[in-house]
Amino acid sequence: MDLNLTDEQRAIIEMADGLAARHDPGAISWEEAGTYPWEFMRVLAEHELTGIDIPESKGGRGLTLLDSVLVIAAVAARSPHLADAVQGSNFGAVRQIATFGNERVIEDVLTPILAGEALATVGMSEPGGGSALAALRASARRDGGDVVLNGEKLFNSNGPHATHIVAWVRFGEGPRGVGAVVVPVDTPGFSKGKTERFMSGEGHCTLSFEDCRVPAEYVLLEEDGIPYALIGAMALNAYGYERVTVDVDLLLTREGLESFKTRHLGLGYVQKFPGSKGFRDTENGVTVDVVLAGEYPGDGLPKPVVFPDPAQAAVRGERTALLPLPRLIELKLASGMTAPHRLKDLADVIEVIRILKLPAELVAELDPYVREKYEELWRAAQAAERE
Ligand SMILES: Cc1cc2nc3c(=O)[nH]c(=O)nc-3n(C[C@H](O)[C@H](O)[C@H](O)COP(=O)(O)OP(=O)(O)OC[C@H]3O[C@@H](n4cnc5c(N)ncnc54)[C@H](O)[C@@H]3O)c2cc1C
Repeated sequence: MDLNLTDEQRAIIEMADGLAARHDPGAISWEEAGTYPWEFMRVLAEHELTGIDIPESKGGRGLTLLDSVLVIAAVAARSPHLADAVQGSNFGAVRQIATFGNERVIEDVLTPILAGEALATVGMSEPGGGSALAALRASARRDGGDVVLNGEKLFNSNGPHATHIVAWVRFGEGPRGVGAVVVPVDTPGFSKGKTERFMSGEGHCTLSFEDCRVPAEYVLLEEDGIPYALIGAMALNAYGYERVTVDVDLLLTREGLESFKTRHLGLGYVQKFPGSKGFRDTENGVTVDVVLAGEYPGDGLPKPVVFPDPAQAAVRGERTALLPLPRLIELKLASGMTAPHRLKDLADVIEVIRILKLPAELVAELDPYVREKYEELWRAAQAAERE
């Protein structure tokens, strides 16, 4: 491994150091400087030192995170105050906006930041929610084509000078209900408190949202709200039949699948192959296979048992959404009965009956189409139990 800097990196460091030295060698600290180094932001933009590791397709320079770090280190060695401009245009909020922003956010917010004309701060911490970020209370709700925010943030770097806030807010319950919205500071209902200082001298202020309304396009991330149910081995595990699996089977509606693709493809998920309904999680390499509501189990041919709409059929637990057990058993029976290559589904049903000690009377809760098969497998399960 070659740990030496490249000639290009050495040239970037030299340029950053030279710009900082020429620009403002006097202002060492934040308190000394008093204001935000807007002028230096524009100098950085002119020299292509904003958005250093943001992809070129989004208006950045397409270099690496190490390149951004080399630049901030070079500038900070001259003046921490000027390094704020490197921070504001390369780290923190700007990366969140570049990663999750749609085309409108890129145009309205990212482009002016990279031009040295705007500045965003991360609004995560709250009175009562610093380390315990998943417990944050600021909220967002959709209202027509807008989202409406309420709550308060504090300890935000560059907050007093920011033109935009990336507000981390709660769309729903629990850690998964947390999302993020970009809020321009001139939005009615948004206000900043008085500037205070960290021990370093850097300024921060409270950020308040009172029925603060922004276009829904400014949502960076939100709770998916896509109805789903776990089926397959993960569902069997959740019901107590512990069986090994290497993939996840999900029941979605067609619209849910489209929505999932729009929001997540390229952001931690890739398609299994072009046009596939299934995905692969890029972090863990786990395959996610998708079955659509309205499809038929097993041989895929029309039959009385059909994959139901998860919005109606799924039961939401603490961690996941599942189909009620009779619905899951029904689908497995219909699958194993009609597709010779899916006999494993019948074996699963025998094991579920045996392990969960399901009664013969459960048959009354099943579709008539699969009742005879359930009775047969129930008897088989009792025989297995006697062995
Ligand atoms: C210079 C600076 C810049 C910052 N910039 C930003 C910013 O741009 N945006 C932003 O949103 N925030 C920012 N912050 C805030 C920072 O992220 C929070 O200070 C941090 O998350 C800690 O939260 P807290 O101060 O409320 O401490 P607390 O959460 O109250 O924690 C206090 C102490 O208790 C410990 N603790 C907390 N919970 C537990 C637990 N469950 N078990 C054991 N120990 C625990 C912590 O480790 C810590 O030692 C900034 C802070 C500083 C100092």
